[in-house]
Amino acid sequence: MSGAKPFNQMIVVTTTAALKAEIGRVKEMGKSVGFVPTMGALHEGHLSLVTEARKHQAFSVVSIFVNPTQFNDPADLDKYPRAPEKDLALLDEGGCDLVFLPEVSEVYPEPDFRKFAFGHLDSILEGAFRPGHFNGVAQVVSRLFEMVEPDVSYFGQKDYQQLLIIREMVRQLNLKVKVVECPIIREPDGLAMSSRNMRLSLEDRAQAPFIFQVLKEAVGKLSFATVENIADQVTARFRANGAFRLEYFAVCDQENLEFLTGRPSKPFVACIAAWLGQVRLIDNLKAIPKR
Ligand code: AMP
Repeated sequence: MSGAKPFNQMIVVTTTAALKAEIGRVKEMGKSVGFVPTMGALHEGHLSLVTEARKHQAFSVVSIFVNPTQFNDPADLDKYPRAPEKDLALLDEGGCDLVFLPEVSEVYPEPDFRKFAFGHLDSILEGAFRPGHFNGVAQVVSRLFEMVEPDVSYFGQKDYQQLLIIREMVRQLNLKVKVVECPIIREPDGLAMSSRNMRLSLEDRAQAPFIFQVLKEAVGKLSFATVENIADQVTARFRANGAFRLEYFAVCDQENLEFLTGRPSKPFVACIAAWLGQVRLIDNLKAIPKR
Protein backbone atom coordinates (compact mmCIF):
# COMPACT_ATOMS: atom_id res chain seq x y z
CA MET A 1 0.00 0.00 0.00
CA SER A 2 1.39 3.41 -0.92
CA GLY A 3 -0.12 5.22 2.09
CA ALA A 4 -1.09 8.16 -0.13
CA LYS A 5 -4.74 9.20 -0.08
CA PRO A 6 -6.35 11.56 -2.57
CA PHE A 7 -8.29 14.53 -1.16
CA ASN A 8 -10.15 15.88 -4.20
CA GLN A 9 -7.24 17.18 -6.33
CA MET A 10 -4.61 16.80 -3.59
CA ILE A 11 -2.53 13.90 -2.27
CA VAL A 12 -2.43 13.47 1.52
CA VAL A 13 0.33 11.38 3.10
CA THR A 14 0.97 10.66 6.74
CA THR A 15 4.11 8.52 6.61
CA THR A 16 7.66 9.35 5.60
CA ALA A 17 7.75 6.29 3.33
CA ALA A 18 4.64 7.43 1.42
CA LEU A 19 5.97 10.98 1.23
CA LYS A 20 9.31 9.85 -0.17
CA ALA A 21 7.60 7.61 -2.73
CA GLU A 22 5.48 10.53 -3.99
CA ILE A 23 8.42 12.95 -4.06
CA GLY A 24 10.54 10.36 -5.89
CA ARG A 25 7.81 10.06 -8.53
CA VAL A 26 7.64 13.84 -8.92
CA LYS A 27 11.42 14.18 -9.20
CA GLU A 28 11.59 11.41 -11.77
CA MET A 29 9.30 13.53 -13.93
CA GLY A 30 11.85 16.33 -13.63
CA LYS A 31 9.47 18.58 -11.66
CA SER A 32 10.77 21.10 -9.13
CA VAL A 33 9.37 20.98 -5.61
CA GLY A 34 8.24 24.03 -3.62
CA PHE A 35 7.73 23.45 0.10
CA VAL A 36 5.83 25.31 2.83
CA PRO A 37 6.28 23.97 6.38
CA THR A 38 3.42 24.91 8.74
CA MET A 39 1.90 24.01 12.08
CA GLY A 40 -1.63 24.05 10.70
CA ALA A 41 -4.66 26.12 11.78
CA LEU A 42 -4.12 27.73 8.41
CA HIS A 43 -5.05 31.23 7.34
CA GLU A 44 -4.44 33.50 4.36
CA GLY A 45 -0.86 34.11 5.47
CA HIS A 46 -0.05 30.43 5.02
CA LEU A 47 -1.99 30.30 1.77
CA SER A 48 0.04 33.19 0.37
CA LEU A 49 3.14 31.01 0.78
CA VAL A 50 1.40 28.18 -1.07
CA THR A 51 0.48 30.59 -3.85
CA GLU A 52 4.15 31.58 -4.20
CA ALA A 53 5.21 27.94 -4.32
CA ARG A 54 2.61 27.23 -7.01
CA LYS A 55 3.71 30.24 -9.01
CA HIS A 56 7.34 29.17 -9.14
CA GLN A 57 7.43 25.39 -8.76
CA ALA A 58 5.74 22.61 -10.64
CA PHE A 59 4.82 20.70 -7.47
CA SER A 60 3.81 22.23 -4.13
CA VAL A 61 4.12 20.46 -0.78
CA VAL A 62 2.75 21.68 2.55
CA SER A 63 3.52 20.00 5.85
CA ILE A 64 1.23 20.34 8.83
CA PHE A 65 3.02 19.35 12.00
CA VAL A 66 2.85 20.90 15.45
CA ASN A 67 6.45 20.30 16.40
CA PRO A 68 6.80 19.50 20.12
CA THR A 69 10.54 20.25 20.25
CA GLN A 70 10.04 23.95 19.54
CA PHE A 71 7.64 24.54 22.44
CA ASN A 72 9.53 25.49 25.58
CA ASP A 73 6.17 25.71 27.41
CA PRO A 74 4.14 22.42 27.38
CA ALA A 75 0.91 24.39 28.07
CA ASP A 76 1.52 26.40 24.88
CA LEU A 77 1.87 23.13 22.93
CA ASP A 78 -1.42 21.82 24.39
CA LYS A 79 -3.25 25.04 23.59
CA TYR A 80 -1.89 25.34 20.05
CA PRO A 81 -4.94 25.45 17.71
CA ARG A 82 -5.52 22.39 15.52
CA ALA A 83 -7.99 22.18 12.61
CA PRO A 84 -6.81 19.45 10.20
CA GLU A 85 -10.08 19.01 8.24
CA LYS A 86 -10.48 22.73 7.60
CA ASP A 87 -6.77 22.95 6.71
CA LEU A 88 -7.09 20.21 4.09
CA ALA A 89 -10.11 21.90 2.51
CA LEU A 90 -8.25 25.24 2.37
CA LEU A 91 -5.14 23.68 0.85
CA ASP A 92 -7.15 21.79 -1.73
CA GLU A 93 -8.91 25.00 -2.68
CA GLY A 94 -5.55 26.79 -2.75
CA GLY A 95 -4.24 24.30 -5.32
CA CYS A 96 -1.66 22.55 -3.13
CA ASP A 97 -0.43 19.28 -4.69
CA LEU A 98 0.58 17.28 -1.61
CA VAL A 99 0.05 17.58 2.14
CA PHE A 100 2.30 15.80 4.62
CA LEU A 101 0.44 15.27 7.88
CA PRO A 102 2.71 13.14 10.07
CA GLU A 103 2.44 11.93 13.67
CA VAL A 104 5.26 12.85 16.04
CA SER A 105 6.70 9.30 15.76
CA GLU A 106 7.09 9.72 11.97
CA VAL A 107 9.15 12.89 12.30
CA TYR A 108 11.03 11.73 15.39
CA PRO A 109 11.36 7.91 15.30
CA GLU A 110 14.09 8.58 17.85
CA PRO A 111 14.61 11.67 19.99
CA ASP A 112 16.62 14.40 18.28
CA PHE A 113 19.48 15.47 20.54
CA ARG A 114 21.16 17.78 18.01
CA LYS A 115 22.24 21.16 19.32
CA PHE A 116 22.60 23.89 16.76
CA ALA A 117 24.82 26.90 17.35
CA PHE A 118 23.25 30.08 16.03
CA GLY A 119 25.04 32.50 18.38
CA HIS A 120 23.53 35.97 18.61
CA LEU A 121 20.63 35.06 16.29
CA ASP A 122 19.37 32.49 18.80
CA SER A 123 20.04 34.41 22.01
CA ILE A 124 17.95 37.54 21.39
CA LEU A 125 14.25 38.44 20.98
CA GLU A 126 12.27 35.19 20.54
CA GLY A 127 15.34 33.17 21.47
CA ALA A 128 15.68 35.03 24.78
CA PHE A 129 12.01 34.66 25.72
CA ARG A 130 11.58 31.12 24.37
CA PRO A 131 14.79 29.25 25.24
CA GLY A 132 15.35 26.24 22.98
CA HIS A 133 12.65 27.34 20.54
CA PHE A 134 14.92 27.86 17.54
CA ASN A 135 16.87 24.69 18.22
CA GLY A 136 13.55 22.84 17.91
CA VAL A 137 12.67 24.77 14.76
CA ALA A 138 16.02 23.86 13.20
CA GLN A 139 15.55 20.21 14.20
CA VAL A 140 12.15 19.90 12.58
CA VAL A 141 12.84 21.98 9.47
CA SER A 142 16.10 20.14 8.76
CA ARG A 143 14.24 16.82 9.07
CA LEU A 144 11.42 18.02 6.84
CA PHE A 145 13.94 19.27 4.27
CA GLU A 146 15.58 15.85 4.31
CA MET A 147 12.23 14.13 3.71
CA VAL A 148 10.71 16.53 1.16
CA GLU A 149 13.96 17.43 -0.65
CA PRO A 150 12.52 20.76 -1.82
CA ASP A 151 14.21 22.93 -4.42
CA VAL A 152 12.72 26.02 -2.82
CA SER A 153 11.09 26.54 0.59
CA TYR A 154 8.86 29.49 1.50
CA PHE A 155 8.84 31.24 4.88
CA GLY A 156 6.94 34.26 6.16
CA GLN A 157 8.51 37.53 7.22
CA LYS A 158 6.00 37.30 10.07
CA ASP A 159 8.58 35.10 11.85
CA TYR A 160 11.56 37.10 10.71
CA GLN A 161 14.05 35.76 13.23
CA GLN A 162 13.01 32.22 12.30
CA LEU A 163 13.62 33.00 8.64
CA LEU A 164 17.19 34.13 9.40
CA ILE A 165 17.72 31.05 11.57
CA ILE A 166 16.58 28.79 8.72
CA ARG A 167 18.93 30.56 6.29
CA GLU A 168 21.79 30.08 8.74
CA MET A 169 20.87 26.41 9.26
CA VAL A 170 20.82 25.84 5.49
CA ARG A 171 24.26 27.46 5.29
CA GLN A 172 25.68 25.42 8.18
CA LEU A 173 24.31 22.10 6.90
CA ASN A 174 25.25 23.00 3.33
CA LEU A 175 21.76 22.18 2.05
CA LYS A 176 20.75 22.86 -1.52
CA VAL A 177 17.33 24.32 -0.77
CA LYS A 178 16.67 27.98 -1.59
CA VAL A 179 14.87 29.86 1.17
CA VAL A 180 12.41 32.52 0.00
CA GLU A 181 10.92 35.22 2.23
CA CYS A 182 7.23 36.14 1.78
CA PRO A 183 5.57 39.32 3.07
CA ILE A 184 3.33 39.48 6.14
CA ILE A 185 -0.36 39.10 5.36
CA ARG A 186 -2.52 41.24 7.64
CA GLU A 187 -6.18 41.54 8.59
CA PRO A 188 -7.89 44.68 7.22
CA ASP A 189 -7.30 46.39 10.59
CA GLY A 190 -3.53 45.72 10.39
CA LEU A 191 -3.25 42.76 12.77
CA ALA A 192 -0.73 40.26 11.39
CA MET A 193 -2.54 37.02 10.63
CA SER A 194 -1.60 34.26 13.04
CA SER A 195 -3.03 30.90 14.06
CA ARG A 196 -2.92 32.24 17.62
CA ASN A 197 -5.38 35.06 16.79
CA MET A 198 -8.27 32.60 16.96
CA ARG A 199 -7.56 32.17 20.68
CA LEU A 200 -8.19 35.86 21.38
CA SER A 201 -11.43 36.79 23.16
CA LEU A 202 -13.71 39.14 21.19
CA GLU A 203 -12.66 41.97 23.44
CA ASP A 204 -8.95 41.24 23.02
CA ARG A 205 -9.34 40.80 19.26
CA ALA A 206 -10.69 44.36 19.12
CA GLN A 207 -7.58 45.58 21.00
CA ALA A 208 -5.06 43.55 19.00
CA PRO A 209 -4.44 45.99 16.07
CA PHE A 210 -2.80 48.31 18.64
CA ILE A 211 0.42 46.31 18.21
CA PHE A 212 0.77 47.15 14.52
CA GLN A 213 -0.41 50.73 15.05
CA VAL A 214 2.36 51.35 17.57
CA LEU A 215 4.90 49.53 15.39
CA LYS A 216 3.99 51.58 12.32
CA GLU A 217 4.17 54.87 14.19
CA ALA A 218 7.49 53.89 15.78
CA VAL A 219 9.03 53.03 12.40
CA GLY A 220 7.73 56.30 10.92
CA LYS A 221 9.41 58.29 13.70
CA LEU A 222 12.73 56.48 13.36
CA SER A 223 13.70 58.65 10.42
CA PHE A 224 14.10 61.60 12.80
CA ALA A 225 14.37 60.09 16.30
CA THR A 226 16.70 57.66 18.03
CA VAL A 227 15.97 54.02 18.75
CA GLU A 228 16.33 54.70 22.48
CA ASN A 229 13.79 57.51 22.36
CA ILE A 230 11.28 55.49 20.35
CA ALA A 231 11.73 52.41 22.55
CA ASP A 232 10.83 54.56 25.59
CA GLN A 233 7.74 55.87 23.81
CA VAL A 234 6.63 52.37 22.81
CA THR A 235 7.08 51.11 26.37
CA ALA A 236 5.09 54.07 27.71
CA ARG A 237 2.25 53.51 25.23
CA PHE A 238 1.94 49.84 26.15
CA ARG A 239 2.01 50.70 29.85
CA ALA A 240 -0.74 53.28 29.33
CA ASN A 241 -2.89 50.85 27.37
CA GLY A 242 -3.03 48.25 30.15
CA ALA A 243 -4.49 45.39 28.05
CA PHE A 244 -1.04 44.20 26.92
CA ARG A 245 2.16 43.03 28.53
CA LEU A 246 5.01 44.11 26.27
CA GLU A 247 7.84 41.56 26.15
CA TYR A 248 10.18 43.37 23.82
CA PHE A 249 10.47 46.10 21.27
CA ALA A 250 13.76 46.21 19.39
CA VAL A 251 15.20 47.78 16.28
CA CYS A 252 17.70 45.54 14.51
CA ASP A 253 19.83 45.31 11.42
CA GLN A 254 17.72 43.49 8.80
CA GLU A 255 20.60 41.26 7.79
CA ASN A 256 21.82 39.85 11.09
CA LEU A 257 19.51 41.24 13.81
CA GLU A 258 22.32 43.17 15.50
CA PHE A 259 20.66 45.72 17.79
CA LEU A 260 20.79 49.25 16.42
CA THR A 261 21.14 52.41 18.49
CA GLY A 262 20.80 56.10 17.69
CA ARG A 263 19.16 57.03 14.39
CA PRO A 264 19.24 53.95 12.16
CA SER A 265 21.45 54.40 9.12
CA LYS A 266 20.94 50.98 7.50
CA PRO A 267 17.93 48.87 6.55
CA PHE A 268 16.30 47.85 9.81
CA VAL A 269 13.50 45.74 11.18
CA ALA A 270 11.47 46.79 14.22
CA CYS A 271 10.34 43.72 16.15
CA ILE A 272 7.74 43.44 18.86
CA ALA A 273 6.26 40.75 21.11
CA ALA A 274 3.42 41.27 23.55
CA TRP A 275 0.93 39.26 25.55
CA LEU A 276 -2.74 40.04 25.14
CA GLY A 277 -4.70 38.00 27.67
CA GLN A 278 -3.32 34.46 27.43
CA VAL A 279 -2.07 34.91 23.87
CA ARG A 280 1.44 35.92 22.87
CA LEU A 281 1.58 37.91 19.63
CA ILE A 282 4.57 38.95 17.55
CA ASP A 283 4.95 41.35 14.66
CA ASN A 284 7.65 43.23 12.78
CA LEU A 285 8.09 45.94 10.20
CA LYS A 286 11.03 46.56 7.90
CA ALA A 287 12.20 49.96 6.69
CA ILE A 288 15.05 51.67 4.90
CA PRO A 289 16.09 54.91 6.60
CA LYS A 290 15.49 58.07 4.61
CA ARG A 291 18.55 60.24 4.58
P1 AMP B 1 3.30 28.53 11.42
O1 AMP B 1 2.21 27.60 11.01
O2 AMP B 1 2.86 29.60 12.36
O3 AMP B 1 4.53 27.80 11.88
O4 AMP B 1 3.73 29.31 10.11
C1 AMP B 1 4.12 28.63 8.95
C2 AMP B 1 4.68 29.62 7.98
O5 AMP B 1 3.71 30.60 7.65
C3 AMP B 1 5.90 30.39 8.54
O6 AMP B 1 6.87 30.55 7.52
C4 AMP B 1 5.29 31.70 8.94
O7 AMP B 1 6.20 32.78 8.96
C5 AMP B 1 4.26 31.88 7.84
N1 AMP B 1 3.23 32.83 8.27
C6 AMP B 1 2.54 32.83 9.43
N2 AMP B 1 1.73 33.89 9.51
C7 AMP B 1 1.92 34.59 8.37
C8 AMP B 1 1.38 35.81 7.85
N3 AMP B 1 0.48 36.52 8.53
N4 AMP B 1 1.80 36.24 6.64
C9 AMP B 1 2.72 35.52 5.93
N5 AMP B 1 3.28 34.37 6.36
C10 AMP B 1 2.87 33.91 7.56
